[in-house]
Amino acid sequence: MTHGESEEGYPQRRIIFPAHVRNRLFIEQRGRCRYCGRRMSNHYLEIDHRWPLSRNGGNELSNLQLLCTACNLRKGIQTDEEFRDRYWRLLPPDGSIPDPPIPQDLFTRETQLTRAAPEVRSIFRDRFEAARRRRQPAGCLFAALLLLTLVAAIAEFVTQRDF
Ligand SMILES: [Zn+2]
Repeated sequence: MTHGESEEGYPQRRIIFPAHVRNRLFIEQRGRCRYCGRRMSNHYLEIDHRWPLSRNGGNELSNLQLLCTACNLRKGIQTDEEFRDRYWRLLPPDGSIPDPPIPQDLFTRETQLTRAAPEVRSIFRDRFEAARRRRQPAGCLFAALLLLTLVAAIAEFVTQRDF
């Protein structure tokens, strides 16, 4: 499975958005990160998929928002709804952009106090398991080689002793 391809095999491509898409979002959000409310220049705000591409989200405008790098990293593979559920104590309940902005350390504290949604945790569990399974064949090969070397060394020792 390559990056940006869904579990079911439907390609969800990561595309370069035309400038007018970014500008429209920038005007809509009045140059602020949608989660923390920090005001930034257009260049530093990142286009985020509310429903992530990796979980079959699309590239349509209604699925896009601008986030600062810190918020985008914190969101990761979470959906917009999962993020808002997790940080509900900080974010305005009506979904509006916070004003004044929320400092990142409040988000960090909230990350430490809360757990990701079960769906998100299960995705990470699956990735961990898949990575472990990929590592296993290499480990077996290494063990076999080690055993072979040991057997060869013993055989050599035994033959030398006989002479
Ligand atoms: Zn932010």
